Amino acid sequence: MAASSNSSLSGSSVSSDAEEYQPPIWKSYLYQLQQEAPRPKRIVCPGEVENRPKYYGREFHGIISREKADELLGGVEGAYILRESQRQPGCYTLALRFGNQTLNYRLFYDGKHFVGEKRFESIHDLVTDGLITLYIETKASEYISKMTTNPIYEHIGYATLLREKVSRRLSRSKNESRKASVTNEEHTAVEKISSLVRRAALTHNDNHFNYEKTHNFKVHTFRGPHWCEYCANFMWGLIAQGVRCSDCGLNVHKQCSKHVPNDCQPDLKRIKKVYCCDLTTLVKAHNTQRPMVVDICIREIEARGLKSEGLYRVSGFTEHIEDVKMAFDRDGEKADISASIYPDINIITGALKLYFRDLPIPVITYDTYSKFIEAAKISNADERLEAVHEVLMLLPPAHYETLRYLMIHLKKVTMNEKDNFMNAENLGIVFGPTLMRPPEDSTLTTLHDMRYQKLIVQILIENEDVLF
Ligand SMILES: [Zn+2]
Ligand SMILES: [Zn+2]
Repeated sequence: MAASSNSSLSGSSVSSDAEEYQPPIWKSYLYQLQQEAPRPKRIVCPGEVENRPKYYGREFHGIISREKADELLGGVEGAYILRESQRQPGCYTLALRFGNQTLNYRLFYDGKHFVGEKRFESIHDLVTDGLITLYIETKASEYISKMTTNPIYEHIGYATLLREKVSRRLSRSKNESRKASVTNEEHTAVEKISSLVRRAALTHNDNHFNYEKTHNFKVHTFRGPHWCEYCANFMWGLIAQGVRCSDCGLNVHKQCSKHVPNDCQPDLKRIKKVYCCDLTTLVKAHNTQRPMVVDICIREIEARGLKSEGLYRVSGFTEHIEDVKMAFDRDGEKADISASIYPDINIITGALKLYFRDLPIPVITYDTYSKFIEAAKISNADERLEAVHEVLMLLPPAHYETLRYLMIHLKKVTMNEKDNFMNAENLGIVFGPTLMRPPEDSTLTTLHDMRYQKLIVQILIENEDVLF
């Protein structure tokens, strides 16, 4: 049904703008093969079989020989039975006719049926999927092995649409299709296009910051026919046909996922939270240079807190800090953290520190952690600064930018030391363990590294102007 999804795209719902956006041409060859694949034919046992496991049906024939199984299958493509092993009672085998021979698979059950990685609700589904896979991999092995060599992926970005136009058109086409109460298949097509068009639009959006982000692929079972957004080929099989990125929704074959560049553009709808979200993922999702929590909190602190005694050292009420966190998770950049709601500035500094502590990968990443600690141990001050500078360059761009921005802010805090009594060393004590954590969480390492963590932050603040 490749044709039908194409026609629904270039046809009625989006026709007026069709010349601006060329939808990729989905390749239907593998879809046709899936349609041609032999269907399962269950050969039932005429009599009752003793010791039949309750999760098998009448396709179970008990302990019979291979030869007997062969005979029962009668040379019919797709015919299958289950039997118990003669040599190893308690072990079960699926005997299946394919390619004019009988294939035997050791069959497992743990609540679901499986012979390999994929797990199925029923034997019928397992055999259906098995036949599709066997058929496609036999008929098209060479085609499949070359699938990734000519991707459509790079061409998707060539559309010259502005994001507004795209979203207007998408909402229109979606509404229209709802009005027309289209079939599920057409719905799928509309959804598929939206992720591609979104990508195309974002590629051409001047405001987006060019940070690299890897996709977050997870094995996925697609309902209805789906095409790979990397190679444009059909994703065959009954379940677990491919992988989907949980951050941006990109759908590709498992084998294609290894070739997709690190250009994930997370979809705000898929990013549920602000706190505890990977830093790069968050900035890509919000299309900002830094996590917006950092910008908003720092703006608030600089507006009314720079002279506050013990700024960042004094802690605010935990409950109120949790409130701010919830407000950011719920309202995003619209979160209200003004003095009218949180008059105590220590709530805001607490919320900012909590944001850094909650990051799954700290601002100073696990990868660079030990290099920073090593740099801190250098006794010659000039060499130490040089070493710190070198390691800074290894940080992911979004982490680097966040750190740079924070250090400029902390420098301002120290410039108000006579009022707030916070110097770079005090701030180092506060921010050291907040910004950097050892990859292996051992109390001993943490204790041992503490003074170097403090020193690193102190160096970053004091030398902010030359380091960044
Ligand atoms: Zn992605
Ligand atoms: Zn693919």
